[in-house]
Amino acid sequence: MGETAVKQKPQAVKGEDAQRIKREVLGIGDRTKHHTRRATPLKSHAKASDTQHRLYRFRFYPTEEQAEQLERTFGACRWVYNEGLVLRAEAWERHRVNVGFAETCRALTGWKRREETAWLREVSSTVLQQSLRHLDRAYGRFFKGEARYPKRKKKRRSRDTATYVRTGFKWVEDPGRPGTGLVTLAKQSEPLRVRWSRALPAGVVPVRLSVTRDRAGRYFVSMLVDERIAPLPTVFVSGSREPKAVGIDVGLASLVILDDGTKFDHPRLLRRYAEKLARLQRELHRKVRGSKNRQKVREKIARLYALISDVRRDMLNRVTTRLVRENQVLVVEDLSVATLLRSARGKGRRRKAKLNQAIFDASWGELLRQLRYKCEWYGRTLVVVGRFFPSTRRCSACHVVGPRMDVSVRQWTCEECGALHDRDVNAAVNLRDEGLRLLAA
Ligand SMILES: [Zn+2]
Repeated sequence: MGETAVKQKPQAVKGEDAQRIKREVLGIGDRTKHHTRRATPLKSHAKASDTQHRLYRFRFYPTEEQAEQLERTFGACRWVYNEGLVLRAEAWERHRVNVGFAETCRALTGWKRREETAWLREVSSTVLQQSLRHLDRAYGRFFKGEARYPKRKKKRRSRDTATYVRTGFKWVEDPGRPGTGLVTLAKQSEPLRVRWSRALPAGVVPVRLSVTRDRAGRYFVSMLVDERIAPLPTVFVSGSREPKAVGIDVGLASLVILDDGTKFDHPRLLRRYAEKLARLQRELHRKVRGSKNRQKVREKIARLYALISDVRRDMLNRVTTRLVRENQVLVVEDLSVATLLRSARGKGRRRKAKLNQAIFDASWGELLRQLRYKCEWYGRTLVVVGRFFPSTRRCSACHVVGPRMDVSVRQWTCEECGALHDRDVNAAVNLRDEGLRLLAA
């Protein structure tokens, strides 16, 4: 609905008229009221120029009381997100009025005053505002063409998450174990029982916390800190002043393939999990919709997904750290839009193939995410080659572009120059060359 309306770009209502509609029809309070209430505005956090944002993630084990409070918090965040979505969509669909982040925040004040949604008051308001901030980012990505129209968050289907800004939690560092300490969330009386698998840099105060519960029912707290990270020395091709570059391809057969032929295979564990997952998926489809047994299988699948993403993240962390250490320029392919289109088209495809595809998509996304921040930390250049570049079909020796190939073709011979290519290595070489060309241009 919202999608088509935005594409056609009808004239938006602005100025006094828009103000009136917002106030009288949509129930968004006026900005002026806020000034008289002496509320301190939320300061956006700017990091010092010589530091980087770094995210540390820890598992924690809530007490029964904390779990209940978090359940309410997650529910309220979801409700506020969905309500904000409805408000923004309706404002545009019915009244042609644009509603932004600040206005949804003012609407939130109104929702909290209403008797039937008074339970919103039990949750920290900065946490709810962050939920509206997430919604605003989702819209931002949609308007830039990077994502689809934001969707409603559903209980048990969407990941539970709540974000606490600096005023939403207390942090007391443990002098005996610097970098660890007591974290107490707003509206909670006891600190979280965090498993400190490692320490934060000593003396830092987390800038922001995110509390999540994954579909396997595990709780995590992600702490964002400002950290001084020293860039690594520049890497040159041995015996020259040229920066060392690497082309990185992500494949179905291997997890990551480099232009020099190095392959990082999928962790063996992942294959076993994938088989188990396929079995559970089949089982799920045999169960009656809405039955207890179906729910049980669904939970098993969720736990397995969580394990799979953990294994994959660990593996990719090892690979990306090594790649960033050993190279100055890193080149990957942009698959984001292609991925979106593919998942939209793939409805009628075989389940197994779909599963492989899902695992592949997730690997690529995670790889790019890790490369992005590690390159920034360590002073490396990341080049993302456009999605129309024919990395697979082009011969890396003579640059002639051949016909399309089925995914099953692992090796091929160039009809033009006779070079024999490994499908994935050839793609990685093409990526490296194209990346260097783009960088020079
Ligand atoms: Zn050739």
